[in-house]
Amino acid sequence: MPQSKAPAHYQLVRTALQENLANGTTRCHLCPWRCKLSHGQRGFCQAHVNRNGTLYNLSYGILSAIDVNPIGEKPIRHFRPGTQVLSVGSYGCSFRCGGCHNLEISWGVSALDDLARGESTAAYVTPEELVAVALRHGVQGIAFTYSEPAVWLEYVIDVCEQAHQAGLYTVYVSNSFISEQALQLVAPHIDALCSDIKSLSNDFYQAICPTATVDQILAAILKAQQLGVHVETRTNVIPGKNDTPDELYRIACWVRENLGENSPWHITKFFPAYQLSTVPETPVETLWSAYEQAQRAGLKNAYVYPDKGCDCAEENLPIESYLANQVADLRQVKKCTASCCGSEGVLLRKFE
Ligand code: SF4
Repeated sequence: MPQSKAPAHYQLVRTALQENLANGTTRCHLCPWRCKLSHGQRGFCQAHVNRNGTLYNLSYGILSAIDVNPIGEKPIRHFRPGTQVLSVGSYGCSFRCGGCHNLEISWGVSALDDLARGESTAAYVTPEELVAVALRHGVQGIAFTYSEPAVWLEYVIDVCEQAHQAGLYTVYVSNSFISEQALQLVAPHIDALCSDIKSLSNDFYQAICPTATVDQILAAILKAQQLGVHVETRTNVIPGKNDTPDELYRIACWVRENLGENSPWHITKFFPAYQLSTVPETPVETLWSAYEQAQRAGLKNAYVYPDKGCDCAEENLPIESYLANQVADLRQVKKCTASCCGSEGVLLRKFE
């Protein structure tokens, strides 16, 4: 297999889309947060940091979770059905969902603090090693999921290149809060996208990400399809938040009008978690009522998941169970050799 330019051991990797501003500040252009950061400061996602006027990704090659699943569980139903994927995620997210099920691995704030301090023992896996694990487990694809892949884009692209050379396909599970430049960069490397459409209400989105709008999300989903990515969408129906027949009908109408009547729409069940722990599970009747709205809107491929919510990593095996034979120094302390941020490391100032 051809070797990539990825570092053999953990280190900070330059952020793929950045703009130098005055006085050593930089702007990250990976997602619509477009964080403007000065030396020692990290972005909202916590995964990108300015060190002396250059932005770096802290989480390149760092895995928070891994598993082998049918592609249908992502959920993706109309691309390579019946095949298996190696699912991986890292730390860092551009949203703060009140009902997040992957809190520790998705937001990963303490894990990214440890990386920034040079105290992390998280697993570092090169793109070649990850592809080798996928081949060893006999899967046909690699899926980026659990956390938001847009804030891990440098690694996602390197893995995709290696995966395609090895004959594997690639899947991207996302909130679609991504800049157009980043989407243009990653789309040629992605075979299939499963994107959330969480709501058609700006208030819903802004409760979990103050800078997000519905239009930004929908534009990115549409653009991905126009760029040739196989696109499927998913709505996690949350009681009292996005479960009115009218809103579900309008989501289904948007999918039909923009992605096509055959475009798959996945309707999943909400399970109480985190700040929404007092919100009840979605009644199965509500899920089927969403299905009826899909029928009314003329969508031909709506799927109901009475037992399934997000693509969670709650029951995954430890990372070691997949990688122990592959990577000798999996749990060594990950230290950046530079000391330009001083003894407090890159924790000096956070965005939040
Ligand atoms: S949230 Fe992260 S990925 Fe998004 S612009 Fe800020 S630093 Fe970049």
